[in-house]
Amino acid sequence: MKTSIRRQNIERQIAQIKEDLARLGSLHPGSLSRQYNVCGKPGCRCKNPKNPRRHGPYYKVSYVYRGRFSSRFVPRDQAKAVRAELANYKRLRGLTEKWVGLSLRLAKEKRQSTA
Ligand SMILES: [Zn+2]
Repeated sequence: MKTSIRRQNIERQIAQIKEDLARLGSLHPGSLSRQYNVCGKPGCRCKNPKNPRRHGPYYKVSYVYRGRFSSRFVPRDQAKAVRAELANYKRLRGLTEKWVGLSLRLAKEKRQSTA
């Protein structure tokens, strides 16, 4: 049976996705937020009437896993690493979504070539 050019092209793209997935580093779902807080200490800089300077930034990562929401604070020096993990997670989702789409197209090509 002759394999169509289109089918070969789809298979090549799927192979590329598998390679990209294998190279994917640490990942983490969710998003990172940054916040500045006001404390309860009287006369603190965060309550200066002229030039209030709040405390922070404090980083918090929030995510949903298996239907459960979680969040935790991230030390400032780890914020960059967490951002990279969040980006990897988005990449994972993008790659799997693309893989599913290609698989559906491949299934259609196979049906048409055997019909
Ligand atoms: Zn304060």
